[in-house]
Amino acid sequence: MAFSPTVVPSFISPEIKKICLNIADNDRVQFVDIEPRAKYTPNKCAYNAKDEAETVGGEVVFGRAIFLWDKVMFDLIGHAVVEKDRRYYCVTPSKMGDQKVLFVPDPSIRFDFDNPNSRLPSCEVAISKKPEVQKLLNVREDIRNIKIKYPVSSNGVLLSPADAQALSVLERQQTDLLSRVIYALHPLKAKCACGSAKQFKKCCRPHMQRVYG
Ligand SMILES: [Zn+2]
Repeated sequence: MAFSPTVVPSFISPEIKKICLNIADNDRVQFVDIEPRAKYTPNKCAYNAKDEAETVGGEVVFGRAIFLWDKVMFDLIGHAVVEKDRRYYCVTPSKMGDQKVLFVPDPSIRFDFDNPNSRLPSCEVAISKKPEVQKLLNVREDIRNIKIKYPVSSNGVLLSPADAQALSVLERQQTDLLSRVIYALHPLKAKCACGSAKQFKKCCRPHMQRVYG
């Protein structure tokens, strides 16, 4: 399942504030407008923000974009935005077509623009205490730890044979665990995680029930 069930949270809950205090030692979490530039690509937010900041005379601010998979986990993805006239904005197009990103500045983030392997840190925080959720987070961390060795744009082409092998095993585990977690926790009446726009209970759940039920 390629679809990611995480979304931009609709409001800043006390839980989000608490996580931000743990992550970034500040509570300056805020919704930031996305003003995408056609010349920029997703996944390159650091370079996009640097280019924009140099163009408009602003500053690059590093932090975390916060995404929520309701009842399951938070995804805290390293992100870069632009600060200009004391206002933050994001110039990186959202793959999901989002118009806002929930952002918290993280002064601990360092990014080496001269190193093509530089990646912004990411982490996930479980909401659910179900063991499948913790296993899923562990697998995803293992995947990140392999990918972090390679440039962002490599898309697997340059992976060593050992890493490619490990990655394919982990990705299969991730797919299975994702399905299990969706089956166990996705709200029945919410839109299905496959992206069909149908209710979960009328779309993929009946099929999953044969496998996981
Ligand atoms: Zn479905």
